[in-house]
Order: sequence, then C-alpha cells, then structure tokens
Amino acid sequence: MMQDPARSEWSTASHGGITASSSALNASPQQIDRLNAQAHLLRHSDSQQALLLCQQAYEQALRLDYQVGLACSLLRWGVCSYILGHPVAQVRARLQAALELAQALGDTQAQIEALNVLAMLHADSGANDLALQAYDRCLALARNIGDSRYEGRTLGNMALVHSSLGQYAHTLDHLQRYLDLAEQTGDEEGQTYALANLGQLLSTLGERETAQRALERSLATPHSQQDLARQSSTRLHLGELLFKHGEVGEAKAHLLEAVQLSRRTGNLRDLCDALHALSQAHHADDDQDAARIILAEAHELAARVDDGRRLAALQLTRSKTLIESGDLDGAHASLQAVLQRAEPLGMAALLAETHKALASIAEARADYQVALQHFRSFHQLRETLHGDQSQQQLRRILIRQQVQELQRQADDERNRSQELSSELTAARQADQEKQMLLQQLSAQTEMLHQLSREDGLTGVANRRWLDLQLAQEFERARRFAHPLSVAMLDLDHFKSINDRFTHLTGDKVLRAVATLLRDVCRRSDLVARYGGEEFMLLLVGTPITQAASLCEKLRLRIEQYDWSTLHPELKNVTLSIGLESNARFDQLEPLLAAVDTRLYEAKHQGRNRVSAGLS
Ligand code: GH3
Ligand code: MG
Ligand code: MG
Repeated sequence: MMQDPARSEWSTASHGGITASSSALNASPQQIDRLNAQAHLLRHSDSQQALLLCQQAYEQALRLDYQVGLACSLLRWGVCSYILGHPVAQVRARLQAALELAQALGDTQAQIEALNVLAMLHADSGANDLALQAYDRCLALARNIGDSRYEGRTLGNMALVHSSLGQYAHTLDHLQRYLDLAEQTGDEEGQTYALANLGQLLSTLGERETAQRALERSLATPHSQQDLARQSSTRLHLGELLFKHGEVGEAKAHLLEAVQLSRRTGNLRDLCDALHALSQAHHADDDQDAARIILAEAHELAARVDDGRRLAALQLTRSKTLIESGDLDGAHASLQAVLQRAEPLGMAALLAETHKALASIAEARADYQVALQHFRSFHQLRETLHGDQSQQQLRRILIRQQVQELQRQADDERNRSQELSSELTAARQADQEKQMLLQQLSAQTEMLHQLSREDGLTGVANRRWLDLQLAQEFERARRFAHPLSVAMLDLDHFKSINDRFTHLTGDKVLRAVATLLRDVCRRSDLVARYGGEEFMLLLVGTPITQAASLCEKLRLRIEQYDWSTLHPELKNVTLSIGLESNARFDQLEPLLAAVDTRLYEAKHQGRNRVSAGLS
C-alpha cells in the first residue's frame, strides 16, 4: 500500500525578497503579509521558525484588526502545526477558523488551502469519506477560479486517499491527471510530486522498471534539489523499492539519507516512515540490534503524533519479528491489536497481511478452523484490492500511460532527427524507428478512443459521450420524426449505503447497477453514467409507452436483485426514474429539464418508482 508521503502543501503567490525583521513590534499590514509569506516559504525546511513567524503575524494582525492577515496567519499556523505534528484538535480549530474567515473575505485560494489540510486531517483519522468530500470542494473551487495548479494538487492528495482504500485504478488515474496538468502549466513542484507518487504506486503494483524511472525522474528535477522534504520521501520510496527487489545495500543508502533529510526538516511523519523502512533493511541484513532500536524510535514518533495508520503498520512489523522469534502468543495478541487499529481506518492491504500472519499462527498451532477463517478474510481483502474489475481498469490505465510514453518518445525522436538531418544515415534510422512507433501508436488509438467514451468505474458510457450522443440523436430523431425517450435514474438514499457499508461497497453497487442496466437494455440503447449515483438511458426509436415498461422492468430488476451478495447486511437497493420522450418537445434542453422534473416527482412520491410523461 502506498504510504502517506509528506503531502504537498501549497505555494501561493510568492512574495520575493523577504527580509522581515522577526521582532517587528508594530507591524504594518505589508509587514504582516511578509511574515506570513516567509512562514510559507520556510514551512518544510525550518518548520519551527515558520511557526514562530506566523504566530507573530497572527498577534500583529489581531492588534491591527487586519482581517486578511488574520486569515492568512491562521492558515499558515495551521499548516505549520500540522507539519510539526501538533495535537489534531488545535490544528483543526485553526484551519477551521482560517476557512471561515477566508469564506467571509471571499478569498478562494485560502479556502482551498485550508480545506486541503482539513481533508488531510480527516484522511489521517480514517474518515475517508469526509476527506474526499473536502477535496471535492477544493476541486470545484479550483476549477471555478481556473487554477490548474490547485486542481492538480488536489487530485494528487485525493490519490492518496484512494490509495489507502486500495483503489489503485482511481489512484493511478488521479496521479496521471495531476502529472499532465503539472506538465502543461510548467509546475515543477507538481511534476516532482506527481512523479514521486506515481513511482510509489507503480512500485506497489509491481511495475519495478517504470516505478524506478519515475522516482529517479522526480529526484532529478530542479525542484527536488531545493525541497528537502520531498527529496526525503522520494528517497524513502526508492529505498523501499530497491529493498523489495533484494538490493539491500543500495536501499540502505537511500533510506539513511531519507532519515537524515527528515531530521533536518523536522517532519515527524516522514522521519517515522524512513526509520520504519531502515529498520526493516537492517533486519534483512541480520543486524537485529540496530533494527530494534530504530523501530522503537519510529514507534515513539508515531505515538507522539498520534498517527493510527503508522502505529498499525509499525505494530505489524513488530508482530512479524515476534513470529520469527517463535513467540506465537505475543505475536497473536499483537496482531489482534493491529486488526483493531486498522479496521476502522479501512487499511485494506495492511489488514490482508495481518490476516495472513494470523492464519500462519493458527496453522502452526494446528487450529485449522481459525486458520481457515483468517485465510478467507485474507482472500476477500485481496479480492477487493486486486479484483477483476479493478485489475481491468488498471490495465487500461497502464496502457494509456504506455501510449503517452510512446508519444513522448516519438516527439523526442522527431527533435533528434531534426538535429541530425545532415547525417543521412542516422536520419534514415531515426525515420525507421519513427515509423515503428507510429504503427504502434495507431494500433492503440482505437483503444484510447474507447477509453475516452467510458466511465472508469462502471464501464458504461461517460458523461462526455452521453452529451455528444444526446445532441446527435435528438437532432436525428427530430429530422426523421422518430420517437426518442430519455430516462434519468437516481439511486435512492445512496449516501446511506456509503455511510453504512463504506465507499468500496457503494462502488460495487454502482457497478452492479450498471451491469443490470446493460443486461436489460438493447444494444442500440445508450446506458451512461450521468455522474455520482445517477445514470441516464437514451432509448432511440422507442416511444414513451414502451420506454415506461422497460423502466418498470429495470426498477423491478434492481429491487429484486440479491444485494446481500455484495455485502451480507445490504438488503435494499432501489432507484427512482424520471422519463420523458421527444413527443412533446422540439428542443433538447426543455426535454432534459422535464426528465429532471419527473425524477423529482418520483422521489417526492416516495422513491422506488417510475414517473413518466405519458399524458
Ligand atoms: P436520494 O434518494 O434523495 O437520491 O438520496 P441520495 O443519498 O441517493 O442522494 P444524495 O445526492 O444526497 O447522495 C448521493 C451520494 O452518492 C453522495 C455521494 O457520496 C455518493 N456518490 C457519488 N459518486 C459516488 C461514487 O463514485 N462512488 C460512491 N461509492 N458513492 C458516490
Ligand atoms: Mg443524486
Ligand atoms: Mg440518490
């Protein structure tokens, strides 16, 4: 599983040439701004000093009743204390206050920054839904002000949440979008970050070569040289990758450097991760004393910042050493504690490993029934992590990545061949290579085309494709006076399914509904995901009476489906449907508005029903 790296903070407008005298007693608004800007610049390299600066800015802003400065210093203060691992309640209170002030002042950037760190706090405490909600708000705000940098960074942070839930396809997709945005906008910091996390994820997925390349590319950016915190976490991931592939010596060198770098920056979470990995490397090298001492320091740090995820991961490592030393009782108790900690946090990959270890203990004790139970849990979790659907989705995204890589190579190739144009032989050779790449590219273009039509989660058409088809088919139906029906389907009380059974189950429900819809509809009908838990059907050549019975059939299918196959306690899933046809409309917009009204009607009349514009 992707470990929590030091997540990207935000570089807002950088105020150049800062020479704030840190003891300014009666500061002006400009001086307060400078203190805050300097705190922002120093937040990773000298977090303590940054903290002092924004505290000063806060006091001065309070004295002057300077609201903008107040919002900004509360925000910086929150960020610094987050990095320094201060008590969560304090960090949250400051950020919440900053958020409210920023809202009142209409400062969208500050809102986004505050929301992002608040989301990180949610994610740290395992409240992944809340984290994703906060990030969604960030994305919307960033798109509103057209800020691709913020948009990218939010995608990067969301990727972390998906990764911790074992949703690797989402993770890869978000990171790829982040890297694209960063490259488009020349955001070097973003490139450094996106590459580092892509590398880390690819490493989790067993793509050793691409993983190593991405991590090394990240370390080689100019930004990485200045950003010690980032460098430290990337070295950590590179060390972990090399360790996983048996190159312990090289791994240790990177990990030691990561430890030293994070001691310098004072980021306790990074330090904890680096120590954890270094301890494992020493363990593999059979230097048990060093391994134990280093692990103990990591444990102490995780406890100090009260980080449940890290505590669980460390305890799993400790349990494994207990198993190796033959202390099965101790290991058993310790693993049970890991389960208790990790379950509420939804740490699927770690839980899978824990069950596997528990199964091996039960087996050693000849308690085969218990062993079987743990093996079952292990396999179930593995299924969620590497299930068929998500595997397929992953493969598709990986292909897309390879195509992009090929495209990049083709561009490089073209540049190179221009330089060498005087050398005929070389140019000819480059041309041949180019031909080959072009052939490969065109073979994959069709696949890309398909990708651009599909919804990643459910495999039905996506919103983009739906919009295109709607416009086209409506026009065609009008011209040839064909019937056309449009239905909007919305799952009932879907939020409570997520809330009760987690997003993972929610996603499974969405996939199952999509499959049922496709099964019942004809090939010529278009099934699309409109967004969230809403689907749309475009029924070409179908008059409304016929469409209404199809919708009723669909409604029954969903109602009667055996949902307990997805989750033992999941009983009822229903949906409400709004339906209209083109019979009464000669424009698309009013037709869609009428479909919406019908859906609203169906909800209002008690849900689990079809409301059709039959009259
Ligand atoms: P109603 O019957 O009125 O439609 O209630 P509802 O709970 O279905 O409606 P609401 O719009 O309040 O909630 C929709 C929920 O759908 C909220 C959001 O978390 C969830 N959702 C949206 N997209 C996804 C997704 O891709 N996966 C999962 N699991 N949940 C999603
Ligand atoms: Mg809805
Ligand atoms: Mg709904």
